[in-house]
Parts: sequence; C-alpha cells; structure tokens
Amino acid sequence: MIPLLDVRDLTVELATESGAVRPVNGVSFQVATGEAVGLVGESGSGKTMLGLGLLGLVPAGARRRGVARLASRNGGPPVDLVQLGDRALEAIRGREIGMVFQEPMTALNPVMRVGAQVTEALRVHEPGLGAGELQRRTLEALDRAAVPDPRLRSRQFPHQLSGGLRQRVMIAMALAAGPRLLIADEPTTALDVTVQQQIVELLARLQRESNLALLFISHDLAVVAQLAGRLLVMYAGRIVEQGPAREVMERPAHPYTEGLLRAVPQKGKKLVPIPGSVPQPDALPPGCPFEPRCPYRRAECSLAMPEERSAGPEHFARCILVR
Ligand code: SF4
Repeated sequence: MIPLLDVRDLTVELATESGAVRPVNGVSFQVATGEAVGLVGESGSGKTMLGLGLLGLVPAGARRRGVARLASRNGGPPVDLVQLGDRALEAIRGREIGMVFQEPMTALNPVMRVGAQVTEALRVHEPGLGAGELQRRTLEALDRAAVPDPRLRSRQFPHQLSGGLRQRVMIAMALAAGPRLLIADEPTTALDVTVQQQIVELLARLQRESNLALLFISHDLAVVAQLAGRLLVMYAGRIVEQGPAREVMERPAHPYTEGLLRAVPQKGKKLVPIPGSVPQPDALPPGCPFEPRCPYRRAECSLAMPEERSAGPEHFARCILVR
C-alpha cells in the first residue's frame, strides 16, 4: 500500500526564553487514501501543533524537521510538505489537504456572508471558474455538508447561524476544492452533544462517499472511536501508541491509553481521571514523559525515552512493559 500521507520523524521546534522546545517530537505515522485515523490525547499533548505543522501553519520562527510525503494525484513523485515553501504550501491547503478547526466563529470572517467565504475557497484554487459555476459549486458544497436551504444560508453572516451550522459551513469550505485529506481539529468540542453526534455522522458520511482520508483530532477517545479505523495516541509531543482502533480500545498497550480509556464516561463504570497533567514542553521529565503520572512506573522508566515496541499486528507502543 502506498500511503497518501507518510510522516517520518516530524519535529516542530520552537525557540523560547528557556531554550528550544519540541511540541511535536519525532512523530511517524501514515494515512492511506480513504482511511479515517484518529489522533487523541489531552490538551497540550501536541495534537494541534502536529496538524498545523503538516500544513506549515506554525508560529513565526518555528522550525520543522523530518519528512511528510504527500502522494501525487497523478502518479508522479510525492511532495514533502516539510520542504515546501509558503507559496507551494498555500496551493496544497484546501486543494489537497482541507482543515476544519474547533471554533468556526474564529475561523470564519464575521463580516462576510458564508456563501462568499465558500466561493472564495473555491476561487483561490480554481481561478478560471466563472461566476455562475462558482455559485453552483458553492451551493453544492453547502448541500454536501448538509446545510439546509443552502441558497438562503449562503446569504447569511456567521453570527446568524447556530454553532452546528457554522461548523457545517467550515466543512463545506474545507472540502469545496476537493482535497484528498481532511484534518479535523476538535471539530465537535465546542458543540452540544446532539450536534456533536450529527457532525461526527456527517464527517463519516463524507469520508465514505468521497473516499476521503481523515485525520480526526480530539481529546475525546469515545468520539474518535466512532469513526476512526486506526488510532494514534499522543502524549508530550510523541505518538506513544498506534494501532487498529478496536485493538487499541480493547487491549491498550500503553498506560496512558489505558488512563484515557478509564476517563471515558461509560454506563455503570466509575470514571477515573488520570492524576496530574501533561508536562509543558520545556519541563519534560527525563526518560518516559508519562513517568510522573504512570501507575506502573519503575526506576528504569526515567533512564531513556522508550523505543517503539510491537504490541501486536500493526500495533505499537512506547513503553518498557511491552514485551
Ligand atoms: S515506560 Fe514506564 S513510566 Fe512510561 S508508560 Fe511504560 S511503565 Fe509507565
């Protein structure tokens, strides 16, 4: 299988007053065409920076290292997103990789009608389209994202829409130019539970219908497990476990994943939060970054960062307990 996205050793390094920090540190994973991959971890684990790092949307002065190969549409050689300059990355964003953010109210332009914003996303990538075609494609994109009465809604401003509708408009914008990969960063977190479920179902449908690859980022393992076939678990800038979603959910190999699972509300089960919090990138403990919070820690855990070990077919974890 040739992956659509092949990420090797991706690092995002930021210069701070206390020295260089790496919110994303040597991350490797792949996403196949049409595959839904979930990226989970608590706030501050580096998930968002990983998504932004792939698209080059990192803070000024940040350095990206490693490789992130995106397969070509027409069988040509892949492009390395880490090596591309700003202009080339701009052409990739929206056209090849779409992105949906947590809070559409801050991502949408508040003084521009939502239809015009979808049209703009199309115009950037397909400047040759005439006004009539742009209008048709805009309404089509809103309709695909299940925005009811697209003609009416397209003339409204973001503040006139509910949170759920704003997120549907964001999804329409992100998919308007037909990208092959969608990065959805906490797309349901700001929504209430019923609307959350509708957005998850919408993304699952769009992914199936368009053979779209999806990188779904969330702190909520229960939400991610609904649509991801494979899970990446991130902690302190590292992928600490990855594998088939069902396998990871049923037989977690890393104590952090085990902790995340115990923290998921389940009927009849006591919810057990993980003690402590994710360390700041400039205050990582030596060795395994989860050591201060880990119920299984041993003296050797603080000696070195555990290597990735096999926990089963296509299933890996960075923990010394994995044999
Ligand atoms: S390496 Fe040690 S501290 Fe880290 S997760 Fe495994 S048992 Fe816990």
